[in-house]
Amino acid sequence: MRLSKIFTIVTFVLFILACLPLAWIINGEWAAYHAADEGLGSIQIAHLAMVAVEKISTERGPANALIGAPADGGGREKLRVARLASDRALQDLVTALSPSRSAYHRQALAAIRVARQRLSEARHDMDRIIAAPAPTATEIMAPIRRMFDVVPVVLEAVNALSFQASSVYPQLSNPLSGARLATELREYAGRLGSTLVPVLTEKRPLTETEAREVFILRGRIEQLRGTIRLRLSVPTTQPVQRQALSNMESRYFRNGLARVDDILLASRLRQPYAATPAAFTAAYMPTLHSIVELRDSMLSTAADEAAIQQRAAFRHLLAATALGVIALIAQLALFAYIRWLIAKPLLAASKLLSDIADGRLDAELPTTLRKDEIGDVLRAIAILRRNSQEKRVLEQERQRLIDELTEVSRIDFLTGIANRRAFTQTADAEIARACRAGESATLILFDIDHFKQVNDQHGHDSGDAVLVHVAAIIERICREGDLAGRYGGEEFVVLASHGNASSGETLAERLRAGIAESPCSLPSGQQLAVTASFGVATLSEASATLESLLQAADRALYAAKRQGRNRVVAA
Ligand code: GH3
Ligand code: MG
Ligand code: MG
Repeated sequence: MRLSKIFTIVTFVLFILACLPLAWIINGEWAAYHAADEGLGSIQIAHLAMVAVEKISTERGPANALIGAPADGGGREKLRVARLASDRALQDLVTALSPSRSAYHRQALAAIRVARQRLSEARHDMDRIIAAPAPTATEIMAPIRRMFDVVPVVLEAVNALSFQASSVYPQLSNPLSGARLATELREYAGRLGSTLVPVLTEKRPLTETEAREVFILRGRIEQLRGTIRLRLSVPTTQPVQRQALSNMESRYFRNGLARVDDILLASRLRQPYAATPAAFTAAYMPTLHSIVELRDSMLSTAADEAAIQQRAAFRHLLAATALGVIALIAQLALFAYIRWLIAKPLLAASKLLSDIADGRLDAELPTTLRKDEIGDVLRAIAILRRNSQEKRVLEQERQRLIDELTEVSRIDFLTGIANRRAFTQTADAEIARACRAGESATLILFDIDHFKQVNDQHGHDSGDAVLVHVAAIIERICREGDLAGRYGGEEFVVLASHGNASSGETLAERLRAGIAESPCSLPSGQQLAVTASFGVATLSEASATLESLLQAADRALYAAKRQGRNRVVAA
């Protein structure tokens, strides 16, 4: 596998390995933030449920005031407004709970369905008693009790929701359960007032049963008061809650309960209490508001704390995500840097080495100032390539010299035409080829006449000039396919190919005439007539080699000399 591919795979695998723990951490932070958010939502919904309990409790006030009272429009309007408030509170709660996100939410929704059913039945009964001319105490208490029965069901929802919030924020369980206890306290305080309505309506002392019920309610109220005080006795309780607690102590437990105690005292003295249910309600009910304020103060403390934690969880989530992304980017940048620093130059070096090995020496070399091993490798490659280039130049020079030597060894130095050796080699091959192909070939051998005299009379230089002159005539007259050479001294030879014997003789005749008709200009400026004698031999079964052709042509040449020179004799 190529290194570049391995590097890519390693990069990918390491990237994935880094992603996994990051995803793990971010997922954990996300879950923590999500739980904190849900918990905060539950506190807010629990508050709505507590408000619903409060509104249902409050609704009993104007209803009680209307029992046994002369029908007056103001009281009815108050009841209508109170019922509307309970309905709205329940509707707000249902809206906040849907779509239900948890089992706690579903439990709360089921409780509210039951509560709504009970509330509508209780209201129906209540309307009947309000309309009755003179209801008995038992008749009055029946719808009041039915109204009581609505509240525990809504409290179930309150419990479920505040339990969910406490499970997310265990440290907020004190204010959360404090608020729940205050909700209950508000309910029992309301019940206490409602229980006294028949007594006030009928203007009589409490019966034995009523006195026992009031006693139990007072006990329950004191119990709740003690528990709430206990919850708020911890050092973490905030001043605003302490203030709300002391406010409740003075307004409800001193002023509100004083009204109840007045009625109980009058009853114990067997005297009817002078106030109407409406007057009692008007004096008693506002004191209950201090309980609601305490509840809200505890709940808003819890909600504020939860919101702080939710924001902290969000910041952790953001920080984890940002750090994760930075870490991944840093890792990728590191990979890119290593690739640029090592992998890329290594790949380039490997390519350059392959090029040098394959003889491609002109690719551009990267210039490097690096002082590390990669720099060493690149510089070594540059040196290697320079050596290879120098070696190539030397090889080319050697080849040129060999070619030159070969050329020199085949050319006659004086005349520039083929020498005897070159002629023999080429002519041998050509004669063998002609024999195989069944073609004809003619060998012409000629010798300059009385050449010795030229040397003797005009000097050796003039002899050389005559030889050059004759060679030039041969080159002018011979055709492309003819092989010509200096055979030795003042003897020349021509192998005329592809022709028949007569065309060979014709060529010999043209050469003879060409020489005889062109006088040679000697270095002295003198014009010298030159002739030569020709022997011609044609390829035949008897003379099928260069050797035999030469012998035959030489004999014919000898004959031409004897017959008086400057002539052509065929063998
Ligand atoms: P013939 O007509 O019978 O051929 O007479 P010839 O004088 O040409 O005969 P011979 O073969 O005796 O003479 C050849 C002379 O050619 C001898 C030699 O000195 C001369 N010679 C051979 N090679 C060269 C050369 O390269 N340059 C010169 N200037 N002379 C050469
Ligand atoms: Mg000779
Ligand atoms: Mg001669």
